[in-house]
Amino acid sequence: MPQAVIAIHGGAGTITRAAMNAEREREYAAALEQVLLAGQRVLADGGSALDAVTEAVRLLEDSPLFNAGRGAVLTHAGTFELDAAIMDGQTLGAGAVACVKRLRNPVLAARAVLERSEHVLFAAEGAEAFAEAQGLELVGPEYYFTQARHDQWVRAQASTGMALLDHDAAALAARAGAADPIDPDNKFGTVGAVACDAAGNLAAATSTGGVTNKQVGRVGDTPIVGAGCYADDVAAVSATGTGEMFIRTVAAFDVSAQMRYAGLSLEESARRVVMEKLPAIGGRGGLIAVDRAGNVTLPFNTEGMYRGVARVGEPATVWIYG
Ligand code: ASP
Repeated sequence: MPQAVIAIHGGAGTITRAAMNAEREREYAAALEQVLLAGQRVLADGGSALDAVTEAVRLLEDSPLFNAGRGAVLTHAGTFELDAAIMDGQTLGAGAVACVKRLRNPVLAARAVLERSEHVLFAAEGAEAFAEAQGLELVGPEYYFTQARHDQWVRAQASTGMALLDHDAAALAARAGAADPIDPDNKFGTVGAVACDAAGNLAAATSTGGVTNKQVGRVGDTPIVGAGCYADDVAAVSATGTGEMFIRTVAAFDVSAQMRYAGLSLEESARRVVMEKLPAIGGRGGLIAVDRAGNVTLPFNTEGMYRGVARVGEPATVWIYG
């Protein structure tokens, strides 16, 4: 029996250490640790991996620090469109919502799709109507709003007029010839969790506001099963980064597939996806993954990724940089 474990991420990023101050670093670390402890508690109480990742991502969505739920980034039109997915490795059950504008917790809607519908992916108004019928909480756009994301959006529009990966400010700065990232405080995004419970069952969940200044209707990798979120009986994976490339490489599924078909270890499989296959087509970001034995790996090809691990019975550990 594996030792139950949960891992989470709050987005991959390129923020420089110099641009991060100690107070802000403590704030992020504390938020990550609280979420880890909540997920760890679910597992310690005998809860399933599915319950643990649901609770962790729900809490990350509620935190204004991360680009999911409250604190989501803005579209080109200044609106909010959120994506989320969840997958149960034991049953291959999956649920996802895309382009939702009124759900407080997209991950809870994804979980409801998994458990209470015959479908896998609902989009836009249909997703909201389904979630409402399931008794989930609806909110207005003001719920998601944070001044920091708004300011970031204004700067992204002024600088490029193009979609900006939430955490990809360095690339923008390079294009603009600027000395500093567009927004040293707020470029990390997408959240996710993976877990292995005491029975060795795996689950993954991912939730995002997408990329800053994205075109209305754009859907990234997050709600696409196998791209930004995947779980089976080999591995559970949650991704963050340039969504289009994660879709094209079927990144999350590939971690499990290379283990199953080529006999790679979790760590080597994830490394090849993040350090070789994604960069080969310009993909930037990272992922978190866990296998049935409770091994965890957290690779990223950006400068940092908010991330942490908590094994039942052990203290939680969080990191931001490499
Ligand atoms: N992968 C997300 C998307 O493309 C963005 C992110 O991870 O920050 O929507």
